[in-house]
Amino acid sequence: MPSTPKIIRSKRKTIALVIQPNGELLIRAPKRATRKQIDAMLKQHANWITKKQAKAKAAQIDFSPRQFVGGEEFPFLGEDYSLKIVKAKKPVLALSGDFQLSEASLGKAESIFERWYKGEARAIFTERVEFYAQKYDFDYAKIKLSSARTRWGSCSSKGNLNLTWRLVMAPMKIVDYVIVHELSHLREHNHSKTFWAQVEAILPDYKSRRKWLKGNGRRFHFP
Ligand SMILES: [Zn+2]
Repeated sequence: MPSTPKIIRSKRKTIALVIQPNGELLIRAPKRATRKQIDAMLKQHANWITKKQAKAKAAQIDFSPRQFVGGEEFPFLGEDYSLKIVKAKKPVLALSGDFQLSEASLGKAESIFERWYKGEARAIFTERVEFYAQKYDFDYAKIKLSSARTRWGSCSSKGNLNLTWRLVMAPMKIVDYVIVHELSHLREHNHSKTFWAQVEAILPDYKSRRKWLKGNGRRFHFP
């Protein structure tokens, strides 16, 4: 905990601790609150403060925009690969040990990366959906790529599976979880016990995968 948190005094009646988006602690206190009272409050909520600050810091890293500079890391199937700007004009972007982006295409880096991710997403999702559909006898209509930022997948009443291409940044175990989840919605259009039992029958460790996605999904933002 920083030794000198910012204190703002006002006409309020109680002391409030606020963790700002950058992780800094702000204390709102009544005009007459003593340093001792404030310190007691800090001590009492020390764990809460540490947790919130860590969360805020993590979130901050998560949302720093991609800059497409050499050494910057980009995720793919759960691994981080660093970006290397190369002289060769073709291919514009390739993954071989690291992401190699043609210097001539730097100005269009964002759309080039997006196109690359989408291509991989389509191929990988198709393969995984087919695998689970055949093995567990699911009858789906089409796979559609969405560009959703927080919704990883959905299943339409027509039997279409919508999966965001951003999911291809996550580990395969997580891709599989989202796919099995959406396939299971073909039979159960809700999150009932029956639904989760079905998911569990296919992926006995689905709970840890789901938890992982909840905690780490924000890392897979783009741009
Ligand atoms: Zn669902």
